[in-house]
Amino acid sequence: MSNAQDILRELGIQGTNAGGSTGTGRWCAPSNVPLLQSINPATGDPIAGVHPCTLPDYERILKDSLEAFQRWRLVPAPKRGEVVRQIGQILREKKDPLGTLVSLETGKIKAEGEGEVQEMIDMADLAVGQSRMLYGATMPSERPAHRLSEQWHPLGPVGVITAFNFPVAVWAWNAFLAAIAGDTIVWKPSPKAPLCAIAVQHICNRVMEQQGFSGVFSLFITDQQSLAETMVQDRRLPLISFTGSVTVGRQVASMVGQRLGRTLLELSGNNAVIVDETADLDLAARAIVFGSVGTAGQRCTTTRRLFVHESRTDELIAKLVKAYSQISIGNPLESNVLMGPLIDLAAVEAYRQAIEEIKAEGGQILHGGKVLPRAGYFVEPTIVRAHNHWPVVQRETFAPILYVMPFHSLDQAIELQNGVPQGLSSALFTTNLRHSERFLSVGGSDCGIANVNIGTSGAEIGGAFGGEKETGGGREAGSDAWKAYMRRQTNTVNW
Ligand code: NAD
Repeated sequence: MSNAQDILRELGIQGTNAGGSTGTGRWCAPSNVPLLQSINPATGDPIAGVHPCTLPDYERILKDSLEAFQRWRLVPAPKRGEVVRQIGQILREKKDPLGTLVSLETGKIKAEGEGEVQEMIDMADLAVGQSRMLYGATMPSERPAHRLSEQWHPLGPVGVITAFNFPVAVWAWNAFLAAIAGDTIVWKPSPKAPLCAIAVQHICNRVMEQQGFSGVFSLFITDQQSLAETMVQDRRLPLISFTGSVTVGRQVASMVGQRLGRTLLELSGNNAVIVDETADLDLAARAIVFGSVGTAGQRCTTTRRLFVHESRTDELIAKLVKAYSQISIGNPLESNVLMGPLIDLAAVEAYRQAIEEIKAEGGQILHGGKVLPRAGYFVEPTIVRAHNHWPVVQRETFAPILYVMPFHSLDQAIELQNGVPQGLSSALFTTNLRHSERFLSVGGSDCGIANVNIGTSGAEIGGAFGGEKETGGGREAGSDAWKAYMRRQTNTVNW
């Protein structure tokens, strides 16, 4: 793929695009709402415009989604899986252009953009298999001549709200499982990455048209908080799956809680790596650099805190500073570039503010710390000596800042690691079996993800993904995450 215009054309993206759709020929008509511009964060230039949805658009989308649910839930689950398989097939064909669009719109390097599309493909494969395995258990009844069992039914239309930093993969984690479960899906993507969502909607429309369906996969783009909240408060959506910040997640949870609906929350992380006195430092350093600098520090699983045994601190810092100084920063579509821009000016401001706060606390900047004076939203990846209790360390700044903190015992390191409000991902580097088991034991990491000798970011879809505490408790992707999209029914038959 060479030219951005060719890529956009291949994905059905025009100069201006409708922001809502429930199928082929069912795109929302433009209204007089101001156009939403998708911006390339590497240059600050607009890529294309989107007409955001209005309230009447939302009502039409919901109506289609509700009607489609009545039919879709009756389609046998393996046949629903076959539809998802076909979407996965088109994603294979479009991996290059769609991966490039992810890079263009979010500033991820090309390998990460393609990696995200690969995750969608993997998720489609998983969902196809899962469509034959929506198992219910059978239990021995305590009464004679009775049968006691449970089964799983589709839930209804589900609302999926996604963050900017995984503009397509997070939708796939939710939408493919929800679809094979028999639900219909209304997707509200981040207004910072609307074109990725429109490209995916075109792909879904193509497959669903062949199946004679509309309204199974729907798109609802808005940059208005009040409209997003209309969706969250809508009793016709039994489940709201929300991926984003703790601040917004808290509001969403409370609004859905008021109507006693269900939420699936995937919120902020503040992930730590612990490196003990026995660790392989080269292995650890590679994982830490990948985890802290990848996606310019804009992953929920980004490594933000590093606890290193006091006997190895200087050695590890030297390795990290050397690696950081070799990172090429620039246009994410160039093959030698390892770090692209932040998403927007607000993200640069949050980075700048965190650096000021670190300095005011007395933190020592070991590498980076500056906004780069060039077009786009570029900052330096940064390493800082810090203390875990500082407010700036306790919160998630969505930028490439790594806080380094020495420790003297594993118990202390685990306590420090757990001593933040978030609980997403964690990792220990060690060659000591007892340390490894201690870290994974009930008194070890309190996170949803705990790894040994592999970093905090880049989870495989086969396992359930999500975190504890303020990260929200939701689980998506593999294992038994499909159950969140279904309702369980217990059946007793007196035969
Ligand atoms: P954000 O919270 O600003 O926005 C997330 C989504 O919520 C967007 O679609 C946004 O338009 C929407 N939104 C905003 N206000 C809303 C409201 N009042 N009601 C309903 N929806 C509303 O997050 P972001 O900046 O797009 O993404 C970064 C955050 O997401 C980080 O905190 C990151 O850790 C988190 N994240 C978590 C995971 C995970 O799986 N745990 C994955 C990716 C990102």
